[in-house]
Amino acid sequence: MTELAFLVDPTAAYIRSFRARVTALPPGAVVLDRTYFYPTGGGQPNDRGTIALPGQEAAEVVDVTKSGAAVMHRVRASPAVLRSLSVGAEVEGVLDWERRYRHMRLHTGQHLLSARIFARTRLRTRKAQLAGTGANLDLEGRLSPEVLPLLAADLEEALTHPRPVTLRHVPRAEWDRNPYAERSGLVPLPPQVDPVRVVEIEASDVCPCGGTHLRSTGEIGHVRLRPPVPVVGGDRVGFTLEEASRPTPSE
Ligand SMILES: [Zn+2]
Repeated sequence: MTELAFLVDPTAAYIRSFRARVTALPPGAVVLDRTYFYPTGGGQPNDRGTIALPGQEAAEVVDVTKSGAAVMHRVRASPAVLRSLSVGAEVEGVLDWERRYRHMRLHTGQHLLSARIFARTRLRTRKAQLAGTGANLDLEGRLSPEVLPLLAADLEEALTHPRPVTLRHVPRAEWDRNPYAERSGLVPLPPQVDPVRVVEIEASDVCPCGGTHLRSTGEIGHVRLRPPVPVVGGDRVGFTLEEASRPTPSE
C-alpha cells in the first residue's frame, strides 16, 4: 500500500519534493511506499512531475491513479531509466508545483464558492470538477443570475480579508452523530471512510474532503465567475483564476 502523505496535515499539501522507496514496478508505472503526488479523485486532477534515482536522469510522471490501496505513478522514460529502477530503491519525487498549486487554489475556491452559494440560496453542490485554470460546480437547482454579483463580492472579500483553512481528523462515529449537518456539498461519504478528514474554512465552510487545499483563502487570488448554464439536475456555475500562475507566499 502507499501512504498518502499529502493528507497528513495542512503543511503536507505544500511539500514539493520528497524521498520514498519503490515497492512495485508494474509495466510503465512506479509504486512507492509513500507519495505526495495526488491521484485523480474527487474532481481534482492528478499531479505530474518526476521520479528519479538520486543524481540520475528522471522519469516523467504523466498520470497518477489509485489502484486499491496503492498509488500508481504512470511514467514516461528512456528504457535505460526504466531498467535502472528496482524494488527497494530510494527515489526522489518532484511535483510540477505550478500545476499542483493551481489545483489547490481552484479546490479551495470551490469549497468557498459552494459555501457562499449555500449560505445565500440553500442550493447545495452536487459535484465539482477542476481542470486547467477553472472549476465547475453542478448545483442541485437553478441559480438566479442576480446572485452572481453578490457571490463575486463574497469571493473578493475572502481575498482581502483572508480566512484560515484548517484540517481535523474526526472519528467516523462522531461525524455520523453529525454536528455538521449544514453541509454545502451533496457528495456522499463512502461507508469505509474513518476517520473523516474535515476541512474547515473559518466561519465559512466545513466539508469532509481528501483533496489538497490552501492554508488561507487569501492565496486563491482574483477569480472571474461565469454565469450559470443549465445542465441535467440543475445549473452549472464556474469560475476561472485571473492569474494562471501565482507565486506561493513565503513560509
Ligand atoms: Zn476539498
